[in-house]
Amino acid sequence: MNNTKRIWRVVYMEAVPEDTAKIIASRLPIGLDLKFVEDYSDDAALAALSDADFALVATHPMPAYLINSAPKLCMIQHQGVGYDKTDVVAAQKKGIIVAVCPQGTIIGVAEHTFLLILSLYKQILKADASVRKGEWLQFGLRSGSFEIAGKTIGLLGFGRIGQAVAIRGNAFGAKVCYYDIERRSPEEERLLAIEYLPFNKLLNQSDILSLHLSVTPNTKNIINRSTIKKMKKGSIIINTSRGSFIDQAALVEALKTGHIAGAGLDVFEQEPPLINDPLLKMSNVVLTPHIGAGSRDALITKMDACFANMLRIVKKEKPFDVITTS
Ligand code: NAD
Repeated sequence: MNNTKRIWRVVYMEAVPEDTAKIIASRLPIGLDLKFVEDYSDDAALAALSDADFALVATHPMPAYLINSAPKLCMIQHQGVGYDKTDVVAAQKKGIIVAVCPQGTIIGVAEHTFLLILSLYKQILKADASVRKGEWLQFGLRSGSFEIAGKTIGLLGFGRIGQAVAIRGNAFGAKVCYYDIERRSPEEERLLAIEYLPFNKLLNQSDILSLHLSVTPNTKNIINRSTIKKMKKGSIIINTSRGSFIDQAALVEALKTGHIAGAGLDVFEQEPPLINDPLLKMSNVVLTPHIGAGSRDALITKMDACFANMLRIVKKEKPFDVITTS
């Protein structure tokens, strides 16, 4: 009788730096074997998937041709909650489970939202650069700097991350309002100290509009020329969710006219943005490379949760956070 235990093969679909790979590998439970794609070429992806049972995905697209080329694949496990680059229908046709991982994203993205708000409100880029240049703007930055306390934070989308932002917004002393297609119960609104506003009112009343939507056919370019016009003059916009929610050309126009005073963006229509993207030249924006959930702490939490979900398959248990198409 063959007593050899089956080794389940995981392929990490991102070509990550060595220090990050070490952290990921350090969380691997017994029974799973891990390899990383060599690079982002199709050849590397096809080779890595040829004997993989599990694909662990962060940003790598998983189109039908990759899914169909993987003979043993039983699960595509996303390390975050965005799965818009995975062909879920193609996966389901092959009986491949697609799962997301809410663990590890919520706190990081909520904290990042405030990093971006405060960076704009306290003009951190200018403040830091001026000190380094030997300029002392102790009074020079004052008229254009603000506090969060007393402002209205409008949350567009009130799911896991929106709620974590609300809690932190209240701690800062802001008034927190939200719009979501699913309104919370009066009891929840009271407990979370949040006020529901219809979409147009949220745009009109928010000093800080922060996007925390999920990807649906209705959320593409939800912030566009017409909705920007409805936003409060001089307000700022924060996007840590997905670049596709904002018509970037319309945002650039509004930032130039000053109708929108500033933008804090962790996500873009195209990632990375093109080198001639006008946003890169603007001084009233703060830009980060999709790192909302990008911390060592979050990575460890995520890897533990993702590997644990794979082990559920190994043990023939139902995995968590499975995406369905119907
Ligand atoms: P979630 O699914 O818990 O919440 C999304 C909310 O958006 C839901 O409550 C939903 O009802 C609402 N919604 C959907 N369509 C809407 C519409 N048309 N109008 C108003 N509300 C609408 O998602 P989450 O975990 O809170 O994540 C929010 C976003 O953050 C996602 O886009 C996700 O991809 C992004 N994210 C970014 C990072 C990062 O590193 N920057 C990391 C994790 C997640």
